[in-house]
Amino acid sequence: MTARILDGNAIRNQIYAELGEEIASLQKAGVRPGLAAVLVGDNPASQLYVKSKIAACEKLGLASFLLTPPATITTAELLALVDDLNHRNEVDGILVQMPLPQQVDAKKILEAVAPEKDVDGFHPINVGKLVAGRPNLVACTPLGVMEILRRSDVPLEGANAVVMGRSDIVGKPMALLLIHANATVTVCHSKTRDLKDVVRRADIVIAAMGRAAMVTQEYIRPGSVVIDVGQNVITKAEQAERIFAKFPEKIESFRKKGSVLVGDVHPDVVETAGAFTPVPGGVGPLTIAMLMSNTVRSARLRRGHTASAAAVR
Ligand code: NAP
Repeated sequence: MTARILDGNAIRNQIYAELGEEIASLQKAGVRPGLAAVLVGDNPASQLYVKSKIAACEKLGLASFLLTPPATITTAELLALVDDLNHRNEVDGILVQMPLPQQVDAKKILEAVAPEKDVDGFHPINVGKLVAGRPNLVACTPLGVMEILRRSDVPLEGANAVVMGRSDIVGKPMALLLIHANATVTVCHSKTRDLKDVVRRADIVIAAMGRAAMVTQEYIRPGSVVIDVGQNVITKAEQAERIFAKFPEKIESFRKKGSVLVGDVHPDVVETAGAFTPVPGGVGPLTIAMLMSNTVRSARLRRGHTASAAAVR
């Protein structure tokens, strides 16, 4: 069996088309949604993430504001910066790129973002609303996974879903969204006993652990839906050759670039699963799409506009 590939780029494009209509209708009402990105210091991975978020704003016609304070910034200085963004009306969404330097109290910063501009969905008020089943701004990666599942017609009601990972930004909100969609949810973590047996019972597996290619075919019940959130960069030739033994084009690309991206799910799972998100090109594109969606939503709600016919959510 070869799994149906759930194409994240195609789903992202669908969402962008719908958002485009919503942005046009907001523009007619004189509103241009805006996203402020705070990028502290010069972490290359963070720079890359923020660059792609700003590029997405430009592609969709959203306003973007990039703030780049130095790595030496204090908690008090960053709080003042966030406070300023909270008060600027042209800013609908605020994202503070993680990780922050050690001297900064990251929790304090995230809690300082106005909940109505918290497009990452990390503020305790937004987390609480999600728990209470009244979601407003929800963390982008799990929200993107739900879009993949819904737009690929994966039945959720009554399904056994196993979420591998319990982080605040992926595993926990993912489990809550699935519960609210009437799935029966099991959350696994590093202390879970008999992990393989637990995962093998799932109709839907969401892997979000940060463990390169850990979920092999033995974990997967034939025909189940496997969503791979993991993004792990591999730089050792021996590891790349072992994981991609059946994918010579990936080994070729590793030899050219010196690195290759792999998810938490072993690529051979494509032979066992019924449906499968590739890495790259699966969950990744949806995370940025949902950030855009949250920014448009925030622009709409902050000004008392209700959803237009084109609204994504
Ligand atoms: P995290 O904060 O490190 O959390 C990892 C979770 O996995 C923890 O709950 C941990 O359990 C669990 N875990 C680790 N090893 C395990 C094992 N051997 N067996 C079972 N559970 C295990 O990571 P995260 O921020 O949630 O990110 C997870 C992955 O998703 C990473 O690869 C990250 O790069 C990727 N990611 C991708 C996107 C995207 O846009 N595609 C966005 C965000 C994250 P404990 O709680 O017991 O430690």
